[in-house]
Amino acid sequence: MAQTIQERIFRLMLGGRAMTRQDIADRLSLSMPTVLQNVTQLMGAGILEECGATRSSGGRKAKMLRLCPEAGCVLGIDIGIRQVGFVTADLLGDLRQSGSVELPFRDTPDWYARFQCALLEHLDRSQTDPSQILGAGISFPGIIDSRRDQVVRSHILGVEHMGLERFQKVLPFPVVVHNDANCACFAERRERQGSYIYLSLNGSIGGGVMLEDRLWMGDTFQAGELGHMVLIPGGRRCYCGKQGCADAYLSPQALERDGEEVYLDHLALFVSDLRMLLDIDLVIGGQVGSKIGPQLDALREKTARYDRFTRDIDYILPCSQQEHACALGAARFGLEAFGSRLLLRSEKTD
Ligand SMILES: [Zn+2]
Repeated sequence: MAQTIQERIFRLMLGGRAMTRQDIADRLSLSMPTVLQNVTQLMGAGILEECGATRSSGGRKAKMLRLCPEAGCVLGIDIGIRQVGFVTADLLGDLRQSGSVELPFRDTPDWYARFQCALLEHLDRSQTDPSQILGAGISFPGIIDSRRDQVVRSHILGVEHMGLERFQKVLPFPVVVHNDANCACFAERRERQGSYIYLSLNGSIGGGVMLEDRLWMGDTFQAGELGHMVLIPGGRRCYCGKQGCADAYLSPQALERDGEEVYLDHLALFVSDLRMLLDIDLVIGGQVGSKIGPQLDALREKTARYDRFTRDIDYILPCSQQEHACALGAARFGLEAFGSRLLLRSEKTD
């Protein structure tokens, strides 16, 4: 279905934050009268608001516009081995509330019933009106086939070919499900823009690849499964059955066991190989990435030994989202997928 002009403006503002009416006209190749008319309608519906003015460069200052943060919200849900995390984000994708409950995952009717209760409790505690929720994103630790709407496989949670309609059945709003590391990768997009690899260093290792502002999924939705690239041939046994996977060397547990020096050697080798493939920034996230600051210089120095092509190793960056990265990324996926439902809602009340 063709997008309406209001929808196009809305989508532009979702990713573009604040801009002037002239910016909107330029970016969407629309005439100024068309932009003025539609912006006025969106402001009347409480969806857009003015937020200051551009710095004057001689002429008149132009007023900046942005989405009205309070006009609607989305949920981000992070399914883990032992617990479920919830966040509420506003229309700008900024975190508003967060919480979590102990709820070890089981693919059983009882688990989904308890999940539904936990969600309602989160909404109650955070005083979120369910009718304000436009949709939700779920972060799930497994390979997600979005075409068939199923989890292809999750080693960690022990499920295969699990339909995603199970979640939709217990939620009163539309939901989209993505791989957990892809969610964390997506949560970095606003700060990074463009292209980068996200390396998630948690109890299991994952990753995501953002190319020109789009998450690269691959032919079989496994792009960015960095944890199972072989780092040390014939090395430690990985839970996937192979030997020497990065997963066995780059987790926080491996850091504890091997010590910082050896761990950083392994990480440097891995990082330089990833850089060689795509020649883009590399963001280090997860538990280790969130605390990498003090070791960053040492890591860059070690990486320089493997990288003969780059003078300064300035492409290794610490993640900017530390806590709630997966849930917040999932919420922002939900915003992209369902944010424009707000326009339908305002049409109905006109
Ligand atoms: Zn493996």
